[in-house]
Amino acid sequence: MLTVMKFGGSILSSKEDLQRVAALVKKRRDKGEELCLVVSALKGVTDKLIEASEKALKDRKAIETLIYGLRRTHLGLAMELGGEAVGKNAAKKLKEKLDILEKALYGINYLGELSERSKALVFTFGERLSAIIVAAYLEENGVKASALDASKAIVTDRRFSQARPIMDKTREKVKEEIAGNLKERIIVVTGYLGADGKGNITCFGRGGSDFSAGIIASALNADSLELWKDVDGFMSADPKLEKDAELIHNLSYEEAEELGYFGAKIIHPRTVVPLKEKKIKIVIKNILTPEKQGTVVSVERSKHEKIVKSIASRDNIARVCLKSAAMIDHPGVLAKVFGTISKEGISVDLVSTSEAGISFTINESDLEKAKKALENECADFESISFDSDVAMIGVIGEGMRRKPGIAGKVFGALGKKDINVEMISQGSSEINLSFLIKQKDLENAIKTIHQKFRE
Ligand code: ASP
Ligand code: MG
Repeated sequence: MLTVMKFGGSILSSKEDLQRVAALVKKRRDKGEELCLVVSALKGVTDKLIEASEKALKDRKAIETLIYGLRRTHLGLAMELGGEAVGKNAAKKLKEKLDILEKALYGINYLGELSERSKALVFTFGERLSAIIVAAYLEENGVKASALDASKAIVTDRRFSQARPIMDKTREKVKEEIAGNLKERIIVVTGYLGADGKGNITCFGRGGSDFSAGIIASALNADSLELWKDVDGFMSADPKLEKDAELIHNLSYEEAEELGYFGAKIIHPRTVVPLKEKKIKIVIKNILTPEKQGTVVSVERSKHEKIVKSIASRDNIARVCLKSAAMIDHPGVLAKVFGTISKEGISVDLVSTSEAGISFTINESDLEKAKKALENECADFESISFDSDVAMIGVIGEGMRRKPGIAGKVFGALGKKDINVEMISQGSSEINLSFLIKQKDLENAIKTIHQKFRE
């Protein structure tokens, strides 16, 4: 049995957290399982690194503050965990890493330049620190373990902030660096990062440690990937908005991917891709209640499950609408609009078009950039409007494939509650019906649809 276990930052912060992780891993190892661990940075560390690197451009003092803080957090935890392996050996390695980070930040400051490549190097430092602590603490508990910098195992392209793995090269490296050693010891791999062919650090974007774990599980042909968190798994709706939301026990890969895109914070959507083709099972588990089943993502979805599995939502989005009668019978208009948007590096989510109009959604944080670019490049449209007061809902479930009447049920229920639907998109994925409503209607809409499908 070979399992990849990924531990998220929210469950890596205190001494108790590490004790919990070590106890769980030890138990599994004692049963004879081969284990590869993938770890995130300690809680909050990546946020600090991102914030500090921007500040470091102008402010040398910010570098001192950051390094001081990171020393305290990491060395403090190592000391608290105590013992020879953690207290001394890990402390030495942590100090070495922190020295490198400090130098890199001063480099950024002196050059006055923060490139995508420097960002990838700095942002991923938290993982390199946490992996050292986790490996040392396992050793301390009598479990043979060593930390591995993923730059030695995951080969990627050169998109430094949103890297994509090159799987054949990665497979070779994973074989050399990880697979052959797992009988003898546990390897603790840094999440969130890889390296291009020349060894430069690349990064998978926020929440990317899940993706790292997916890549490694696939390269190892693991029996399963476990994502350990402080929540039970995917829910049928956001429990903050709908108190009757329930845990979902089974999901297909496609459902997990769709839900991941809604930013449910449970799984990074790209994680699913390398696992789907090999049918490697993904299990989401709560480290506080490990006896609970959690959510299992696999090909064996049970037939008796509900048509709609989850009502997901996002409210950090904005809608753009362009209208012009000149669009009719005029080729190239869509290309122009989306070309303008893509030149700005903005990604588009929902799209809906008619003969004389285009509507699409983007992240709210990209709104100003989009406004500027479109008002410049598309001034010949009759009207361009922007609205950030909207939220997106996704109704997701395999049972929706070729099943008539779902949209009618959803929109009928919303209509009865006087909730106006601003834009609809269905069809690109048969298992997801997505639409836009006003932000103020979000909670009511989620409750309404959730209730409807429980009837
Ligand atoms: N530490 C990174 C982040 O906070 C990656 C991860 O945890 O998945 O985004
Ligand atoms: Mg995460």
